[in-house]
Amino acid sequence: MNPAAPVLVTGASGYVASWLVRDLLEAGYTVHGTVRDPQKKSGLEHLHELSESHPGKLKLFKADLLDAGAYDAAMQGCELVMHTASPFVISGLKDNYEQLVRPALEGTRNVLESCNRCTSVKRVVLTSSVVAIYGDSIDGQNVPKHTFTEEHWNTTSTVDHQPYPYSKVVAEKEAWAMQEKQDRWDLVTINPGLVLGPSLTKASASTSLVFIKQLANGTMFPGAPDLWMGVVDVRDVAQAHIKAGFTPAAKGRYITNAANTNALEMGRVLRKKFGSGFKFPLFTAPKALVWLVAPMAGLTRKFVTLNVGYRIGFDNAKSRRELGMSYRPLEQTLVDHFQQVLDDGILRRR
Ligand code: NAP
Repeated sequence: MNPAAPVLVTGASGYVASWLVRDLLEAGYTVHGTVRDPQKKSGLEHLHELSESHPGKLKLFKADLLDAGAYDAAMQGCELVMHTASPFVISGLKDNYEQLVRPALEGTRNVLESCNRCTSVKRVVLTSSVVAIYGDSIDGQNVPKHTFTEEHWNTTSTVDHQPYPYSKVVAEKEAWAMQEKQDRWDLVTINPGLVLGPSLTKASASTSLVFIKQLANGTMFPGAPDLWMGVVDVRDVAQAHIKAGFTPAAKGRYITNAANTNALEMGRVLRKKFGSGFKFPLFTAPKALVWLVAPMAGLTRKFVTLNVGYRIGFDNAKSRRELGMSYRPLEQTLVDHFQQVLDDGILRRR
């Protein structure tokens, strides 16, 4: 990999990608970042600041996942392509296919077709997710120690049930299928759990930024559903992409996950640090109650049945061993993120 060649980051303005762009620039690389609207008045301020502090090193290109050939110009001269752009929304959806699956699947196909045309490309790092590995927590009942590894695939999600996980698994599968049809570029996927930690952008619609507010604004007060998940710091996810891009021997999928936890435990960590002036969850809500009120909270009863109360874990050993990853502790991620929410005036003490 030529260190002087530009690195392409798709969806450069996103929550995860913004840290990735920043870290690449800090490490001295030139970055070609794609955004849907480079002229927009707000939402790109942090990228413009990065551009000013790294003169000539960050170039923004206009590209939409659904526009055929839209990534060709940004990819010229790039050996490494980091494809992060994909919608991460799980509530308020009106059309699961159009809003989630189509941009994830057709977008991945579109970006990789550009890679097939652009002869400089040697490696693609795709931002996948642990939800390409499992669909519902109950799936963990069928794996040793209820702990998922890179060997596992989500076989249970559909457009109607768990559409976001479905969008991630079909996109990742398409990427592997396209990679196998040629031998110029290889593919490495980063499969993070829920990404949390301070945000460089205030404009992202990422569910990560919604979730941290919900932990404190009473959405889960006094009782939180017993939903287990993997959590990882956004700054570590950015590093994982860079290590995956520049470690020649990196191969296959990498679970990037720091902790296996649930909302009650995260509430406990935050209450210990920030006191009881916020409505952090205090108890675990009984599953029957969660099932009953699910539709009012925007959840389906099927989701509650298949996910609440099943403890799951994720094995991050491959990322530690092969990429040399180490992960910030959960407490640091939550405290740094929540402090930012307070500093920005998004939530106030009761
Ligand atoms: P985000 O801030 O919402 O970023 C999503 C990015 O995708 C944005 O830059 C957005 O561009 C872009 N995008 C969406 N639809 C597009 C389209 N039609 N054409 C072009 N760009 C489009 O969310 P995020 O949390 O950073 O997620 C980034 C990636 O990480 C996604 O692939 C997501 O699945 C993956 N991931 C996230 C988490 C997590 O917990 N956050 C966990 C695992 C995996 P605009 O700025 O123009 O809207």
